[in-house]
Amino acid sequence: MGEGRLDFSRLVSFYERLEATTKRLEMRDILVELFRESEPGEAGKIAYLTLGELYPPHTGVELGMAEKLAIRALRLVSGVDEQRVEELLRKTGDLGLVAEQLLSSKKTQMTLSLEELTVEKVYGQLERIARFAGEGAMEMKVKTLSGLLAQASPKEAKYLIRLVTGKMRLGVADMTIIDALAAMSGGGKEEIERAYNLCSDIGLVASTVKSAGVEGASRIGMRFGIPVRPMLAERLTSAEEILGKLDGTGFAEYKYDGERMQIHKQNSHVLIFSRRQENITSQFPDVVEMCRRGLKAREAIAECEAVAYDPDTGDMLPFQELMHRRRKYDIEKAAQLYPVSLFFFDALYVDGQPLIDLPLLERRKMLESILEPSENFRLTEGIVVSDSENLDKFMLKAVEAGCEGVIVKDISPKSVYRAGARGWLWIKYKRSYVSKLTDTLDLVVVGAFYGKGKRSGKIGTLLMAAYDEDADVFKTVCKVGTGFKDEDLEHLTETLTPIALSRKPARVESIMEPDIWVRPEMVLEIVGDEITLSPIHTCGWGAIRQDAGLAVRFPRFTGRYREDKTPEDATTVKEIMEMYKSQLKVIASGEESEAA
Ligand code: AMP
Repeated sequence: MGEGRLDFSRLVSFYERLEATTKRLEMRDILVELFRESEPGEAGKIAYLTLGELYPPHTGVELGMAEKLAIRALRLVSGVDEQRVEELLRKTGDLGLVAEQLLSSKKTQMTLSLEELTVEKVYGQLERIARFAGEGAMEMKVKTLSGLLAQASPKEAKYLIRLVTGKMRLGVADMTIIDALAAMSGGGKEEIERAYNLCSDIGLVASTVKSAGVEGASRIGMRFGIPVRPMLAERLTSAEEILGKLDGTGFAEYKYDGERMQIHKQNSHVLIFSRRQENITSQFPDVVEMCRRGLKAREAIAECEAVAYDPDTGDMLPFQELMHRRRKYDIEKAAQLYPVSLFFFDALYVDGQPLIDLPLLERRKMLESILEPSENFRLTEGIVVSDSENLDKFMLKAVEAGCEGVIVKDISPKSVYRAGARGWLWIKYKRSYVSKLTDTLDLVVVGAFYGKGKRSGKIGTLLMAAYDEDADVFKTVCKVGTGFKDEDLEHLTETLTPIALSRKPARVESIMEPDIWVRPEMVLEIVGDEITLSPIHTCGWGAIRQDAGLAVRFPRFTGRYREDKTPEDATTVKEIMEMYKSQLKVIASGEESEAA
């Protein structure tokens, strides 16, 4: 059996089955079958394609051809004019379905004379389409796509179009693929997940598991230029609870309100990766220079928070100011107008030595030893705390300094760097949680309702969900229609309408039926007055009371689009349940003091 034997039509038959189910376990079993049938060389490509991608995120190469171009290619192969295609698109909202329809009704199918498309061939052509750049690129993209479509069956065309336009949306998550690879190998989920967390490359992991098994995957390690998936924090709302969780002692650090950066340095070569593993080096030439000078190791992977500051006063500025740095042009000018300070909090790798399995304070010592500190380039402020009074005092200091609160970290021998995991080794304690009125939540848009009156025809209200990490689904927690400016509603209508789905996405659990469903993608910051029991929201369903979930009362959009967060980084169902419980305590203790 040679490489690349899987027909694209076979892959498509698996996609049809995946699309027909919303059950994660069924999805996993279908994927197991699919990976069993694939060669090692194909497995990686299949993993990317199934997620609607071509490469891992740090490469920056994405599918996402403009719909207009795809329509032109469709016109070329079907002979139907663009207007008609656009009309059909308005009806179905899915250019993939339109392609299927057009090719099925085409009288003169030429596919008989042509050879079958294979996964290898399709992937190769998609790579070409993604990479054409510069003069004549559009024409080449259209030509290559129409070449593929001419050989495709109607069903194949449906997925080809969804793939090139970046709208695959099978409802399969990266963790479902990991589960499938483990199930196929008869175990080893932990090793496979670890490999994925260290290289953030699902294709590399899939092809390695196929060719060298779980054992091969466990040899995947950290490498310069390959971002490690970040360790994440849980949250609690009181100093006592936090110290209780950490067996009485922890390392409290300021929680700076900026953007997380993972710095990779090799000699004078510096790369910067975002929290979502994108390569953002080109946007921060100042950070590159600071790291070249300030990180003394020959080779290092270290993490810091970059915070905007006012060059006139030296004061730290809120997170929003950093948005000015997300641009393609005038980068040097922006770097001068909106300079950043770097606060380092972890070292993952130094001069050939992986550090992630060392306890926190040892990693910090190593970090300190390679840092040449200056005013805007230093370690995070931090102290070891063992009593809640000191922790609360430190928290106030942090807030006074312009931070969001603190992160308290485990310092026991088990306090390793757990890549890609949210866990109790790091616990955030944000100031806003102290006062229940200013809690902010980061929630995921899963649906929308059209407005009435002045807002009719435009999106006016959003259905928001929290992330349930155990089930890997999104559960609704409120409808939000306040806090949006006219521009926000314009923007939301423009962004959400084209990605509307006619039925509930696989990973969403909802009792409410919005006017349109949207794939969980966009994260917004929401404030609310309190959390209440709710008969219509699925977040925390049955956990507090039978037949009730939890809802945010009087939710408002704060104006902050959390573009730095993936939907899986959103506030979790567990966190909302904790907030609900701690709020009850606040009310209870308020009543006590009144009685006293
Ligand atoms: P959140 O985004 O609310 O889940 O909080 C976690 C984020 O806080 C991390 O991803 C970092 O970007 C940021 N952060 C700020 N200060 C620290 C610190 N001292 N240690 C770890 N993370 C920090």
